[in-house]
Amino acid sequence: MDEQSLKKLRDWFKKNAAKLPWRPADLDAPRDPYAVWISETMLQQTQVSTVREYFIRWMKRFPDVETLAKANEEEVFKYWQGLGYYSRARNILKTAKTVSQFPNSRKELEALPGIGAYTAGAILSLAYHQREAILDGNLVRIFSRLYALDFLPTESRDAAEIYWNYAREVADSPKAYMHNESLMELGRIVCKVKNPDCANCPLRNACRAALENRTAEFPPVKKQAPKDWHGTVLIVESADHKILAVHGGQKFFKNQFTLPHFESPRNATAGLPAQAERYVDADKVLSVENIGKFRHNITVHKMECDVLYIRLNGKATAPASSEIKWIRREQAQDFFANNFSLKALERLLHRTDKP
Ligand code: SF4
Repeated sequence: MDEQSLKKLRDWFKKNAAKLPWRPADLDAPRDPYAVWISETMLQQTQVSTVREYFIRWMKRFPDVETLAKANEEEVFKYWQGLGYYSRARNILKTAKTVSQFPNSRKELEALPGIGAYTAGAILSLAYHQREAILDGNLVRIFSRLYALDFLPTESRDAAEIYWNYAREVADSPKAYMHNESLMELGRIVCKVKNPDCANCPLRNACRAALENRTAEFPPVKKQAPKDWHGTVLIVESADHKILAVHGGQKFFKNQFTLPHFESPRNATAGLPAQAERYVDADKVLSVENIGKFRHNITVHKMECDVLYIRLNGKATAPASSEIKWIRREQAQDFFANNFSLKALERLLHRTDKP
């Protein structure tokens, strides 16, 4: 980021910095490393508004690392209760018992329980005014948008290095402490996840995503690993050749008519599954037959489905609710609007051994 942008960022921060119990009025004053450590640990995954009171209470009871080191786990948990992630409180206590003074090097800090690259960077820059970088969710979002990075740092070592290099560039200044904190604040109140307020952002003239009107594209949505899903699709046919369609109450296609389906284990035992009894009276079932399988992908689900063909010995009766319809067999392919149902129907319609 060029010096002009960094200056705009600092000026914006000086004007807009929220009053927070862990932030002294003099934004250039070095902080107490203990207070930075406690506040940054509390802030991981928890909103600033929630942390405020917890931090004040904590600092009254445990104002420094020596006091904390003498406390027992039970009491520490009591002061942490409501912030969740008790492992953090446990690590804080463990660290307090091992250090009498806070180390001032990244290597030593990161060796302590519960202190990772982010917290170490925050302590070193905010408390010791060292040129140390930080990278949290706010900074990732800002860098992704500023430089139109269409990947996340979690995707690979190289990807993480690219983000960290941008973070180091910002921190390579005697004002690293202010650059780091300004970016965290900017991410929290301006460059928000949804609807970033670009019109009021000090970086708008340097931001590729904003200049190209593509802020919604960055950061990219985390690619989810495909999930295997095995299910059963029911084709229920009445004696007068009508096929049952359902609307709602299904795993997929909640807003349209589909064939009934549910998750089931591979090699499910033959016979009428209990889930089918929601739609058919077991006494009216003439036959139940597995007529094949098909594969289908929906969102992250890699699906494999068995198609169960259930023939009834009676005619289709008037449906008890608007969520059920009987469709004439010859009209079924035109009726269903999802490929999932159509693939299942194909197993029936293209069968050579038709009943
Ligand atoms: S201009 Fe918009 S998208 Fe870019 S950093 Fe600022 S708020 Fe975020």
